[in-house]
Amino acid sequence: MAKMYYNGDANENYLNGKTVAVIGYGSQGHAHAQNMRDSGVEVVIGLRQGKSWQTAVEDGFQVYSVGEATAKADIVMILLPDELQTKVYKEEIEPNLTNQALMFAHGFNIHFNQIVPPKESDVLLVAPKGPGHLVRRTYEEGAGVPALFAVHQDVSGEARELALAYARAIGALRAGGLETTFKEETETDLFGEQAVLCGGLTSLVKAGFETLTEAGYQPELAYFECLHELKLIVDLMYEGGLEGMRYSISDTAQWGDFVSGPRVVDERVKAEMKEVLKDIQEGKFAKGWIMENQVNRPVFTAINAKESEHEIERVGRELRKMMPFVQNNKKKEVVSSAT
Ligand code: NDP
Ligand code: MG
Ligand code: MG
Repeated sequence: MAKMYYNGDANENYLNGKTVAVIGYGSQGHAHAQNMRDSGVEVVIGLRQGKSWQTAVEDGFQVYSVGEATAKADIVMILLPDELQTKVYKEEIEPNLTNQALMFAHGFNIHFNQIVPPKESDVLLVAPKGPGHLVRRTYEEGAGVPALFAVHQDVSGEARELALAYARAIGALRAGGLETTFKEETETDLFGEQAVLCGGLTSLVKAGFETLTEAGYQPELAYFECLHELKLIVDLMYEGGLEGMRYSISDTAQWGDFVSGPRVVDERVKAEMKEVLKDIQEGKFAKGWIMENQVNRPVFTAINAKESEHEIERVGRELRKMMPFVQNNKKKEVVSSAT
């Protein structure tokens, strides 16, 4: 088994007397900043004037422009949306770099050569394997979200210790740290979200919903069956793996799982997953996404609009109005920041 790193494997002294500039105060930014502050680390925030600036001030942080925050810091953690990082880096971060350590929570821009850091900087990655609001919530509960860490450039000779200290300060080493490379983190993160967590899952849910409604079953029922109940199943998997989930379901459900699951997600699906992975490894996916952003996202916008009109979304919006308990505040935040 790979070596896992826990609190005892990290030395927070590597952050002593250092200032961390957290650039961006969104999903990851607010969580890293607040967790580190609670761990006794000196944190400043770098932002543009806008919604997040106001929030960070209200949360009691010293907020500066990205350039100023970079200049004040020993460590610069870039938590901007991946597609905006290159521009902000070139215009505001790079001109203010002396020998600060540069940090990322996802390896995309380093691995695909969109940001080429100066030779004088340590370059590291601490990538929590979970959404930002959980990075914060679990920390407050005394727990944490596991994280990957990696070193791309080690100039100081302390880059690895620094990554571990940072991972500990955001609470990640309570759950476990796993050492990786920028390449491995980037490729697996993209694959996971495309094939399984986001893309695979939404397509699976929609296909199930459409199969039921096209056969004449009620859409509301199909929504409960194919989407709502998914959370309960995923929670069981999270707690006990596949076998933990299968222990809790009926034997009829388990038999159906065994005989029908592999018919639905068959060898053809796996062959397509390998193609998806190949596009990621060869940089094709990255190139497409970078170019899509350069032309102001016409395809992204069109698909997004079409998806929100899908019957599963219309039915779901109505049903969730009657279930206020399924809507938490963070979710509303995510929805509003995504639109
Ligand atoms: P968000 O979209 O949630 O937050 C982006 C932040 O950047 C906002 O505070 C936004 O402020 C600010 N911002 C946007 N443009 C600029 C600009 N031009 N100048 C200054 N500030 C700006 O990002 P995420 O937290 O989702 O992602 C950050 C990084 O973390 C990415 O590398 C991502 O891959 C990685 N990551 C994200 C995870 C997640 O759970 N979301 C999980 C693991 C890694 P404003 O309010 O002004 O728009
Ligand atoms: Mg991810
Ligand atoms: Mg990702």
